[in-house]
Amino acid sequence: MKIAVLSRNKNLYSTRRLLEAIEQKGHTGVVIDHLKCDIIMDEKGPNIFFNGSTLDDVDAVIPRIGASVTFYGTAVVRQFEMKKIFSAVDSLAITRSRDKLRSLQILSRAGVGMPKTAFTNNSKEENKVIKHIGKAPVVIKLLEGTQGLGVVLAETDKAAKSVVEAFDSLKTRIIMQEFIEEAGGADIRAFIVDGEVVGAMKRQGKEGEFRSNLHRGGSANVVKLTRAQKSSALKAAKAMGLAIAGVDMIESKRGPLVLEVNSSPGLEGIETATGVDIAGKIVEYIERNISKKRKPKDKVKA
Ligand code: ADP
Repeated sequence: MKIAVLSRNKNLYSTRRLLEAIEQKGHTGVVIDHLKCDIIMDEKGPNIFFNGSTLDDVDAVIPRIGASVTFYGTAVVRQFEMKKIFSAVDSLAITRSRDKLRSLQILSRAGVGMPKTAFTNNSKEENKVIKHIGKAPVVIKLLEGTQGLGVVLAETDKAAKSVVEAFDSLKTRIIMQEFIEEAGGADIRAFIVDGEVVGAMKRQGKEGEFRSNLHRGGSANVVKLTRAQKSSALKAAKAMGLAIAGVDMIESKRGPLVLEVNSSPGLEGIETATGVDIAGKIVEYIERNISKKRKPKDKVKA
């Protein structure tokens, strides 16, 4: 089987590990930079060109699409899907997961535990918005933020009002969220492959930091999930339609609360913390799907 990792950089840990796992299991692995793919369409059907080739010999793709290139990256993944080439992660699910607001709407509909969140167009009425949440402290998040940047803790109603005003003047969209103090600056990342938690780690923010992101200086350790945490993580990934997902949760008095579901979760932190061959689990998931689906007549015509 020929499996393509859609990645911009073959030296990244996750890309390297996926290639290693593909080869280890006796397949051929290639790295395709999705930004260098051309999407061609006419009445004969969808096509993709990369370095002068149509990529018809690829059996499956593993998308590793960075947040800054979501639009083009998901268009390329969708084109593979249109060509009936199996994608380990659904293009629509990637699009959903990249939109913080849309993700929370989907998780809320599915009944997944989450911090109470407000989004409004009327940021002039900050007090009313804060009332939806309760009262300060509140967390204010940029809709476009990643890696903990643009996540602000406003300790008083006054501070919240100033932060909302500042973002409003920059015409930046935000959400306001109840602050879960008892999370203690820690969160849990559950890595899911095909409806199963294959690894989990607890990340602790550095001293005095409420954000646990490793990019913000946090540290990670392996953790055994409670039943409730496992069930929340699986429910969240399922609601988003993601077969491979990194679900971020914080622990609260009312149980685990999901913050985010990541569609290109990094492998380095979780493999290092847990010692699990997660790249191998991803390849096994592809093997199961290809053997289920592939019939000779399904082969894409040149
Ligand atoms: P990003 O997507 O930028 O990582 P998150 O929403 O995951 O942003 O927030 C970053 C970190 O801040 C989380 O991992 C968590 O530790 C902390 N955090 C986020 N929201 C809350 C909240 N409502 N209450 C308490 N801590 C929070």
